[in-house]
Amino acid sequence: MKMKPEQLQQIKQLVRNVPDFPAKGIQFKDLTTVFKDADALRLVGQALAEPYRDKDVTKVVGIEARGFIGGSILATELGAGFVPLRKPGKLPAITIKKSYTKEYGVDTIEIHKDAITPDDVVLIHDDLLATGGTMLAAYELVQTMNPKKVYVNFICALKELGGLEKFPPEVEVTTLFDF
Ligand code: AMP
Repeated sequence: MKMKPEQLQQIKQLVRNVPDFPAKGIQFKDLTTVFKDADALRLVGQALAEPYRDKDVTKVVGIEARGFIGGSILATELGAGFVPLRKPGKLPAITIKKSYTKEYGVDTIEIHKDAITPDDVVLIHDDLLATGGTMLAAYELVQTMNPKKVYVNFICALKELGGLEKFPPEVEVTTLFDF
């Protein structure tokens, strides 16, 4: 279900801004204040899924940790499986990994080597797009597993950080709202 502009605005207003977290100068957009509201959580889940209902998505990849929340909802909404993309050392079986730079520091992500196959249509989800480093690394990592197609989506984006421009033009990216 597509959200009405006023519903979207209400949900955006639920996002809590936390200055100087986790480091000085960062305006942290805290989405737990959206997730704890039952109506907002349901509406966000449905709106996130809307553009992908006819895309035959078979796997939703959620980025640790906040991407697990929307990612799980998306997977059930779309009738797809869920695959976690995790911080190093957390996944128990054989993994492939990639390091990247983000708004505040350097990080590495890992995915199980057998999580995605060439038959899959993948939607990678995270809560928020900042510089785009995390999602670009996730996108490149998933692409090494040769799925049929990879889509990317977020609940929101910090537009001024220019994360969207990091992706090759052929990558379809959606967000519900921007800051
Ligand atoms: P980036 O790689 O710079 O796009 O950073 C995106 C990742 O870091 C996402 O997993 C976000 O949850 C988190 N993140 C980065 N900056 C912020 C911010 N200002 N507020 C909330 N989350 C952020």
